[in-house]
Amino acid sequence: MESTLRRTWAEVNLDAIAYNYTKIREKIGSDVKFLGVVKADAYGHGSIQVSQLLEELGADYLAVSSADEALELRVNGIKMPILILGHTPKEQVPRLIEYGITQAITCKAKADEYSAEAVKAGGVLKVHIKVDTGMSRLGYLCDNGYFDTGVSGIVEACKMPGLEAEGIFTHFAEADEFGQANDDYTKHQFELFTRVISAVEEQLNHKFKIRHCANTGAVARFPETYLDMVRPGLLLYGYGEFAHQMGLRPAMTMKTTVSTIKIYPEGTAVSYGGMFVTDKPTRIGVLPYGYADGFLRSLSNKCSLYTKEGPAKLRGKICMDMCMIDITDMPTVDVGSEVEIFGEKNSIDDLAACAGTIPYELTCAVSKRVPRVYY
Ligand code: PLP
Repeated sequence: MESTLRRTWAEVNLDAIAYNYTKIREKIGSDVKFLGVVKADAYGHGSIQVSQLLEELGADYLAVSSADEALELRVNGIKMPILILGHTPKEQVPRLIEYGITQAITCKAKADEYSAEAVKAGGVLKVHIKVDTGMSRLGYLCDNGYFDTGVSGIVEACKMPGLEAEGIFTHFAEADEFGQANDDYTKHQFELFTRVISAVEEQLNHKFKIRHCANTGAVARFPETYLDMVRPGLLLYGYGEFAHQMGLRPAMTMKTTVSTIKIYPEGTAVSYGGMFVTDKPTRIGVLPYGYADGFLRSLSNKCSLYTKEGPAKLRGKICMDMCMIDITDMPTVDVGSEVEIFGEKNSIDDLAACAGTIPYELTCAVSKRVPRVYY
């Protein structure tokens, strides 16, 4: 594999993403549209490359978090529909119209602003209305006694000049959690969402073209929530319990190489703070991979990384640009030997569990200075 001067890189297997896409498509059936979530640089995989692939594969929609992310895709030639899930400053509305980008509408204040700006620009902004059914983040609040006000706010937004309400959506808070209470919560959110849609459609006397709510957890576990379109992110990249159950393939493999090797006598403190002290002569390999590359410092001295001779324990604190592994019993691991941080042999899910976090955080953390190598 082509390496870099620093000899640390992330391999992104586009075939794996294509495979996962096809498997998810098989699961959802041909009547349901597919929106690929490519926000945060496609969870660290490269939003342009992943979007190009999804466009080629015939996906229906992309979702990003901001106008910057959407415009980056447009200027790089992505033509398919793009939905911005987060807020956009109102000054950007003319550009959204010009570039044919769909905006989420999350409250009355935003609807007012976007409508006014679209009218001023003499165009029509395509929007999807966001309903807050229990995530308590963005969206028209419709739960806990706010049903009627939520519905009338949405109806009002749908009638505003300069806005074309193509879709309506909500986001599940607990679809990827396994308890009965979590399942009940998802079912409650879904039931509320469908009631809101019916009430709004009745008052408007027409139907939304695209109703959507199913993220990874719901795609895997709640087929009744697919409606017109599903909206998976993590599943597409092949991580997590659900990807595992569906036989999907992890897309990213993070690799580095041993840059220096030294043998330290017993009683030597390795790295900052003396978190690890050798209890025998110890062969330590230094890797050019640290927290500035996205390696979570909370993994210091905790996990193992994969060499050609198997797992090697991480020793001492992770530094900004480097970390150290114990290769005492690995005579064939030498300067230049490849080490897998996570990917094929070292599961990202295990590494995330070891860090007390989720795989999303690990791939999103892979920093800009780590080159992505596509194949
Ligand atoms: N929809 C929205 C609104 C999101 O914020 C996200 C991710 O955070 C997703 C869909 C995709 O979630 P997942 O990666 O769990 O499928």
